[in-house]
Amino acid sequence: AGILYLVPTPIGNIDDITERAKQVLASVDLIAAEDTRHSQTLLRHLGIERKLVSIHEHNEQQKVAWVLEQLQQGHNIALISDAGTPLISDPGFIVVRECRAKGFNVTALPGACALTVALSASGLATDRFCFEGFLPAKSGQRRKTLQSLLNEPRTMIFYESPHRIVASLEDLAAEFGNERQMVMGRELTKQFETYLTGSIAEVIAQVNADSNQQRGEIVLLVAGCPNKSDDDAPSAEVIATLNVLREELP
Ligand code: SAM
Repeated sequence: AGILYLVPTPIGNIDDITERAKQVLASVDLIAAEDTRHSQTLLRHLGIERKLVSIHEHNEQQKVAWVLEQLQQGHNIALISDAGTPLISDPGFIVVRECRAKGFNVTALPGACALTVALSASGLATDRFCFEGFLPAKSGQRRKTLQSLLNEPRTMIFYESPHRIVASLEDLAAEFGNERQMVMGRELTKQFETYLTGSIAEVIAQVNADSNQQRGEIVLLVAGCPNKSDDDAPSAEVIATLNVLREELP
């Protein structure tokens, strides 16, 4: 049977594609792409000519049977998205899940991904983190999602659209407070790559002061909730236990 390859493509800088990714793209029987016209431009740049089929958000479920059939016939397939790593806020999950369920060989190549690029350069804790994908588009839902993350101790990573950046930053301040540390990574690997750092209030001030900061592709990172056990003050539970003990003492 054929193999399903998950192949990352650049997130901006066109040179951010590995030798192996190029070899795989040049050798597979089919390339499944989110937007075939968009990917055709990349393939042309790489000098690769392959048959392209479209698998996107809206047809992935219908395309699964076709993918399984191609693999069954021994055809190797590379799955790519418009940018970065497939399946990371991009299509591919249903295809991979079904390929696994049917016992087909699935292999992923390492490569560009906006969340790891932003995290590694952010200066925020990298030992533990959680990726939240895109925040909900509507403020009410967004505030609820953020509320549920108030005590999250890990560094949080969000993707955000430039149209919502001001509103989302305001919701971050409303839920996490002005003082929580954060980083906004914008246009990463591209000409106008920018990192805005500081408290949430400080990042908001920088974004409001320069409308260019409200353009392009954006990753938001928020420091985790400071660890309560690191505080000098004992927790409420410890105090309650001490009070019980004190009453027992002579
Ligand atoms: N699969 C991609 C990946 O591996 O990062 C993500 C695809 S998702 C549809 C697109 C979002 O990723 C953008 O809205 C932005 O939040 C983030 N993103 C992608 N490229 C970026 C870049 N060069 N700089 C900053 N953020 C980027």
